[in-house]
Amino acid sequence: MIVLHIPYASHTIDDSDIAAVVDVLKGNFLTTGPKIKEFEQAICDEVGSKYAVAVSNGTAALHIAAMAAGIGAEDEVIVPAITFAASANCVLYCGATPVFADVDKDTLLMDLDDAKRKITSKTKAIIPVHFGGEVCDMDAYEQLAKEHGLHIIQDSAHSLGSKVRRKGQGKFSGQQIWSFHPAKTITTGEGGAITTNDENLYKTLLRLRTHGITRDTSQYINQNHGGWYYEMLDLGFNYRLTDMQAALGISQMQKLPQFAKRRAEIVAHYDKVFDGLPFQVQKSPEWSSPVRHLYTTRMYDKNRRLEVFDALQAKGIGVNVHYIPVHLMPYYKKIGYKPGLCSVAEDAYERLITLPLYPAMTDEMVEYVVSAVNEVMG
Ligand SMILES: *Cc1c(COP(=O)(O)O)cnc(C)c1O
Repeated sequence: MIVLHIPYASHTIDDSDIAAVVDVLKGNFLTTGPKIKEFEQAICDEVGSKYAVAVSNGTAALHIAAMAAGIGAEDEVIVPAITFAASANCVLYCGATPVFADVDKDTLLMDLDDAKRKITSKTKAIIPVHFGGEVCDMDAYEQLAKEHGLHIIQDSAHSLGSKVRRKGQGKFSGQQIWSFHPAKTITTGEGGAITTNDENLYKTLLRLRTHGITRDTSQYINQNHGGWYYEMLDLGFNYRLTDMQAALGISQMQKLPQFAKRRAEIVAHYDKVFDGLPFQVQKSPEWSSPVRHLYTTRMYDKNRRLEVFDALQAKGIGVNVHYIPVHLMPYYKKIGYKPGLCSVAEDAYERLITLPLYPAMTDEMVEYVVSAVNEVMG
């Protein structure tokens, strides 16, 4: 058999995406031009929010979302143990303390009961992560946030297109952050966004994206000196996206329905043909209508994980592991976090293997993965 090389994730770019980028390159604005607003509107329309702020990547989105929420020293923020490090790092960027909650053993989403147990008088915010494109129960999180006065930042980096009880993730309170890295559901190369329904948060995010500067006269502290005048009100950054990236994002967004359809086909096929193999797959909770980003499996026998991982790699399948629990990272250990904090997450980590899932996979590639998995694990 011919050995194919199939990564765990990949972007899908066609000639219309390329033409959209070239059009911008021939025009007058390479950054801060009209494509940014157009992309932001497309994001709002998709996720159901009033406002969107496009930024340079998902990590920048998390950083300024945490700042806009007013997270600072003395504050604690609850984050799930199984996620990409950036979900927790944004809390450290603000001088605050991430508090890790365990995950549910079937869905791998943050365990709401454990999150509740970890609330203290210092808890300022909570960051539910829609792991693998399956969404958290945002109605329950809203209830919790109301009871305890918490700010919610949804880490929606995996979940563009997913719905919570048929509602877009942007319909909820607080903020949502998105990533357009090539591994994610749509791509702008690097890119990200924050969405919200709160006008004040929106204004703050716009400033933080560009050095903390505003030209909105209604926000001025001092008297307007004249036409050249602007004010820097916060210590912001340059987290802007380019118009080339925004044009790519607009073009990609139009393909989201077809990307979602192909992802769902592959997931349904995997679920069917893998039935009976010695691993568990991520369970979809009843409130979730996902656009699946990752297809994660967990070996019943954790002693086989390394051997199975290596054997699939040897067959050209770019398996991966999502994720090493954040609190087990050497940096987090150095600042005082200890193994044993989140036992479900730590056990899941030892069993996890992510299989390839992306819309550009042909039927032949899917069958290649299926037969390799059957050979190695069957
Ligand atoms: C990818 C990702 C991010 C960060 O996005 P970048 O665009 O890569 O900076 C944040 N959170 C999660 C869960 C992610 O998977």
